[in-house]
Amino acid sequence: MEQKSDRQQEQQPRSNFNFGAILWGIVIALLINWLIFPNISGNKIVPTDYGTFISKVDSGLVKAVVIEDGQILFQVQEKDGVNGKEPEDSSAFKDITYRTGSVDDPELVDRLVNASSPNADGKIKFARKIKSQNSALINFILWWVLPFLLMLIIWKYTSKSLQSKLGGTGNFMSFGGSGARIYAESQIKTSFADVAGQDEAKDALKEIVDFLHNPGKYAEIGASLPKGALLVGPPGTGKTLIARAVAGEANVPFFSISGSEFVQMFVGMGAAKVRDLFKQAGEKAPCIIFIDEIDAIGKRRDNSMGGNDEREQTLNQLLTEMDGFDAAKGVVILAATNRPDSLDKALLRPGRFDRRIQMELPDLEGRKAILNVHLKKIRHEDINLDIVARATAGSSGAELANIVNEAALRAVRSGRKSVRTEDLEESVETVMAGAQRKGKVLSDTEKKIVAYHEIGHALVAALQSNSAPVHKITIVPRTSGALGYTMQVDSGEQMLMSREELLNKIATLTGGRAAEEIFCGTVTTGASNDITQATRLARAMVTRYGMSDRYDMMELETQANPYLGGDTSLACSAETAAEVDKVVLGMIKEAHGKARDILASHQDIVHEAASYLMEKETITGEEFMNIVSSHNS
Ligand code: ADP
Ligand code: MG
Ligand code: ZN
Repeated sequence: MEQKSDRQQEQQPRSNFNFGAILWGIVIALLINWLIFPNISGNKIVPTDYGTFISKVDSGLVKAVVIEDGQILFQVQEKDGVNGKEPEDSSAFKDITYRTGSVDDPELVDRLVNASSPNADGKIKFARKIKSQNSALINFILWWVLPFLLMLIIWKYTSKSLQSKLGGTGNFMSFGGSGARIYAESQIKTSFADVAGQDEAKDALKEIVDFLHNPGKYAEIGASLPKGALLVGPPGTGKTLIARAVAGEANVPFFSISGSEFVQMFVGMGAAKVRDLFKQAGEKAPCIIFIDEIDAIGKRRDNSMGGNDEREQTLNQLLTEMDGFDAAKGVVILAATNRPDSLDKALLRPGRFDRRIQMELPDLEGRKAILNVHLKKIRHEDINLDIVARATAGSSGAELANIVNEAALRAVRSGRKSVRTEDLEESVETVMAGAQRKGKVLSDTEKKIVAYHEIGHALVAALQSNSAPVHKITIVPRTSGALGYTMQVDSGEQMLMSREELLNKIATLTGGRAAEEIFCGTVTTGASNDITQATRLARAMVTRYGMSDRYDMMELETQANPYLGGDTSLACSAETAAEVDKVVLGMIKEAHGKARDILASHQDIVHEAASYLMEKETITGEEFMNIVSSHNS
């Protein structure tokens, strides 16, 4: 019942609107206004004082008097003579209306009755104006209908201009009803070919596409498809993209709304939007409803103080609608989130988002495929995809798309007509470490320290087994603040890291500082990022990977949001935490000592490589390894 009346309300503002009727309404209202407040004369009214009024009455020239609340209007026949001269004929007499404040004067009536006047009967016409008693109808029109019509006009105009701003063009439609910004696109060009890698996700979604093409086939057997599928994965892995691709492949309308748009200031709006969304979609079935960033409304409900009423109402409405509609009609709901752990369990139960589609960061082959998809859009020469894909381990699809675009921009900057591999390599570094700072010149001492620091990293990496080969060393400052860096690139794709590899990595990270100590006799702030990374790794080894003897396989920290940076929180007592700190410190100290030993016993390599780096500023891993092997043999 409640729903029904709500919908009627929504319909009202959408009904056709007659401007002619409104104009007529205004004209009639003005007419009525003029009829019930007639002036005693159309001329302008001259203000004057009460004394003048009395003397005019006494002079016998007053024709009419109207006594109102608080004021008196009176009409006087005056000679229109110039400089007080007698006018020649009667046409020179003119009626002037005066106004004066009324005074509590009990003799006024006597005076008016007795006074003479230019009127035909020689008497002044006088009356007290009855306080205007508008009829109920007129009152109603004046106070209710007119303001309402005005509001309607204003509302109509503003909502119209808003709608045009919200992209009322092309095949976008936006629905007014509850003010929801639901975008319905009828023609989506995105297809599965635009989504590279993510083969498992595509396979899972192909069934949905088939269902949307031919719902009858499934209905015949009596099979019901999942109503909803939840796309889960880190940001930038193509969740939004693949949802659009499903609509494009199935060639059905695509209704999309972002979770954050449901949550508004006014309680109840979100729920109305959900209703609206499902109603619109129901009319256009078969179609796809896509709720992006669903965690904004789908967060686990709890009974803690200060819960978000609006969000809960919206979520409840969503649950109700998902239960209520008939899946056989061909409405499929897709939703995306990068915080699956925070979702309400009720959303995930069978019959709602029971299918979960994982979108992971792309592996080596996936990265190549994504680079290929985006390279198709730009002009390029033969590209060594392998190098670029290997250098971008851990990058998301969105980052790869960005890298390709940066490369294209770089090619334009250097006046070329097409993109080369070197553009891509440089843009990888730009995206990861910031752009080169050409204007920034290091002093000779600083340059020397940075060179030794970087060679320190590189040599410790090179002389340990189990660490990724050095790909490039550079001491060109970057906008991110890095003064130089050593790039290591794995030859293959690694899923697992062993304890030895992690320890080697920590040693490599301490190699920069170790070189400063040994070769420059000082320590600098240049190692701050190394310190952060080394500490994080060592801590994770102890608290989450069970790689310390002391704590065996005990979890000491939990990770909150694996897809969003992975903030950790302690899951152990304060005493244990203090002990953990000691274990972590021990590991770092050991790694640092190891790095120092390696560098101290290969001083001639460090000196040669550092001076070579100072001269060239950027050297390849190959050049560096040549120096290393020339000393070892
Ligand atoms: P998400 O919604 O998962 O955060 P998006 O779908 O918005 O990520 O992806 C952003 C952009 O990144 C896309 O528009 C596309 O250009 C690029 N992208 C991401 N993943 C892929 C992929 N698998 N294949 C091709 N391009 C991708
Ligand atoms: Mg998205
Ligand atoms: Zn460093």
